[in-house]
Amino acid sequence: MHPTNSSDYAKYCDEHDALSSIRSRYHFPQFNGEDVLYFTGNSLGLQPKSTRAHIEQELNDWAMFGVEGHFRAKHPWYSYHENLTDGLARVVGALPIEVVAMNQLTSNVHFLMASFYRPDKKRYKIITEFKAFPSDQYAVQTQVEWHGYQYEDAVIEIAPRTGEYLIHTEDILSAIEQHKDELALVFIGGVNYYTGQVFDMSTITKAAHCAGAYAGFDLAHAAGNIKMSLHDWQVDFACWCSYKYLNSGPGSVAGAFVHERHAHSNLPRLAGWWGHDKTQRFKMEKGFVPVPGAEGWQLSNAPVLSMAAHKAALDLFDEVGMDALSKKSEALTAFLELVIDDISARNNGVLEIITPRDKRWRGCQLSIVAKGFGKNLFETLIHNGVVPDWREPNVIRLAPVPMYNSFMDIWKFGQRLEECMQQVSSK
Ligand SMILES: *Cc1c(COP(=O)(O)O)cnc(C)c1O
Repeated sequence: MHPTNSSDYAKYCDEHDALSSIRSRYHFPQFNGEDVLYFTGNSLGLQPKSTRAHIEQELNDWAMFGVEGHFRAKHPWYSYHENLTDGLARVVGALPIEVVAMNQLTSNVHFLMASFYRPDKKRYKIITEFKAFPSDQYAVQTQVEWHGYQYEDAVIEIAPRTGEYLIHTEDILSAIEQHKDELALVFIGGVNYYTGQVFDMSTITKAAHCAGAYAGFDLAHAAGNIKMSLHDWQVDFACWCSYKYLNSGPGSVAGAFVHERHAHSNLPRLAGWWGHDKTQRFKMEKGFVPVPGAEGWQLSNAPVLSMAAHKAALDLFDEVGMDALSKKSEALTAFLELVIDDISARNNGVLEIITPRDKRWRGCQLSIVAKGFGKNLFETLIHNGVVPDWREPNVIRLAPVPMYNSFMDIWKFGQRLEECMQQVSSK
């Protein structure tokens, strides 16, 4: 069927979508007795219906066993994080020894930088993206200052060219080349939170290594969104949160990746007892001996209740698989693109998609500048059962998530967007 902005086409796509039944496994907030049009899985993913039972299992075991649950719970808490390892490894394209669920995202940025940002007189610079997510900006700024360097001197931000929204890979590569003698680290987002641009992590990593620097990525907007091969790409380290595309609940436990080649290295780190040799942990003796691999960066015992939610969500990723998800993601996002372009074409080009048009360099998020409209358009959408999100000064971010959004969601969104634009314009 020829793609058009029509309910017939949306219906046809849903009927031919092998993943369409997965939607019923998630809770949707309601609006006038119907599912809201939820496009904010890039901010907080929806709750799997299985989450409650996973958390209840741990609450019951806690009630029944108390402290003994560490070993007697159905899924013993002592090693609970190990239940997440294989699923996480598949989501980010890693070996099990390379991933661990731990801490929160920004904490992981700091703890991994403690190992991978070891500036000396000669090499102390960090290349980052211009306008990275604020938490990453603050982490990078305070890391360089904490080591006694000046932000302006030590941090090189790669910006879009004048008048553009996206960052050219070649601009990152030429900055790496230009600063190769002083470069300690390249640290950027895998997917930019504002524009939805996917960075070429493999090429950037290669260039960083040629310059003698490490390469790390914040995958907050990449994990569960795009298919990655962190191991094959030779990425040194990465971290992500689990509450966006990974649907594991507000503030849930984050994740970290450390490449296998660092698994047995003695990289300096800020350690805690959970990163210490498992066989010796309860001897409570001095002398830190790291567990090989990413687990050796753990600090604290597992936050089991949030890990239970994470497990429920990861099981669904395993059931569906990143290949099938990416395939649907491409189709869904292409349909949203078609709908936006159609509406824009009939309305003097008011909607500009700033996300890459090339599907290789985007995930499911499209960021749209609604020219001449302010936040009132966004608010009108919210009052009409649409949940997008808004980023100052005038960007609407929409993430049709392949796990639970349908083609019909997108067609309905287009209808409501046009109605809302008319409402706002006629005021
Ligand atoms: C969402 C997001 C964060 C949030 O950090 P927390 O520590 O989880 O609060 C940080 N960085 C990026 C790039 C994000 O997208």
